[in-house]
Amino acid sequence: MVGGSKMAGINLKNVSKVYDNGFEAVKSINLNIVDGEFMVLVGPSGCGKSTTLRMIAGLEEITSGELYIGEELMNKVDPQDRNIAMVFQNYALYPHMTVYENMAFGLKLQKLDRKEIDKRIKEVAATLHIDSQLEKKPKALSGGQRQRVALGRAIVRHPRVFLMDEPLSNLDAKLRVQMRAELIRMHNDLKTTFVYVTHDQTEAMTMGSRICVMKDGIIKQVATPEDIYNKPDNLFVAGFIGSPQMNFYKGTLVEESEEYFLSGNNDEYGEFRFPVEIADRENVRPYIRKDIIFGVRPEHIKFTEEGGLKAQVLVTELLGSEVHVHLHVQGEIHTVKTDASANIKAGDIIRVIPAPDKIHQFDPETESAI
Ligand code: ATP
Repeated sequence: MVGGSKMAGINLKNVSKVYDNGFEAVKSINLNIVDGEFMVLVGPSGCGKSTTLRMIAGLEEITSGELYIGEELMNKVDPQDRNIAMVFQNYALYPHMTVYENMAFGLKLQKLDRKEIDKRIKEVAATLHIDSQLEKKPKALSGGQRQRVALGRAIVRHPRVFLMDEPLSNLDAKLRVQMRAELIRMHNDLKTTFVYVTHDQTEAMTMGSRICVMKDGIIKQVATPEDIYNKPDNLFVAGFIGSPQMNFYKGTLVEESEEYFLSGNNDEYGEFRFPVEIADRENVRPYIRKDIIFGVRPEHIKFTEEGGLKAQVLVTELLGSEVHVHLHVQGEIHTVKTDASANIKAGDIIRVIPAPDKIHQFDPETESAI
């Protein structure tokens, strides 16, 4: 089905990868990527996201389980017959060919006629703003322009799926932001299925229609960026997504005349108490008088004159309009986001308290959200 622009979803059913040395990099994952979706696979180094992408591409054999693209079982289909395009971090362009020739190369192999090739290249070059670079050789281009040529070379083939493995990681910060926007626009225009691998949670949050968070070869949560941020399923997702990361407080859940508190201890600064609103959270009641973990994002913590938690400010970071205040709490660094007018310095002893309705609760044993 060469050159067709038919779209397709991707379905992984109990897919595992065991490498020759016996290492299980992907552990029976189930993931249904909907037709036309921008799915981002994100997770720390070694979590198995590239292996998963490479199995979809056909560059890595699937040890067990089933991979479908559209309705077709793909396990034994050669990479070149899957009608997918893959863009890597190291976008190898042919150095001796012009940009135009680089983009035309795959289409000539597909034996498309010269007019069609020319039409596709000109269209795509215009969208990617590389139309004035077509006669140049890659070495005469900037990193960002080369990256666009690599993308263009993939787009002209009209694949039914785009697979991208950290395609922006070699670009400088400014270009990365630009290319991020361009990829989002490109996805909106093409409406093709994208699977995008990154370890950068900002890329995941800004680009994905859904995000698949992985750790140690398993999927920890698949959801929209909003849900991943507001309703993390577990401690790992809660801590991995969000910058600065969510703060975690360990303590006991106490009930006093129908009000609820986390009661904990912060080393030399002694006990602290956080009120929490859980009136409508039946599933939290079993934790009363038991250990629990509270998770609070830095933007949901306020300073207070009394009560709450007492701590010393380690360092403050001014980021233009906002300040990140770092504290030492229960042996870890905690962060409070505040506005630049707050007059807080390293060494100050302060008190903080979270917004009672912005607290996430986790089971300390299973690390699942409650
Ligand atoms: P990164 O962001 O660092 O690329 P990743 O999440 O993409 O990480 P993978 O490249 O999928 O991770 O690798 C997952 C695990 O499998 C890692 O622990 C890696 O060391 C291991 N691994 C990858 N390729 C092989 C191989 N050919 N043989 C054995 N183990 C491998």
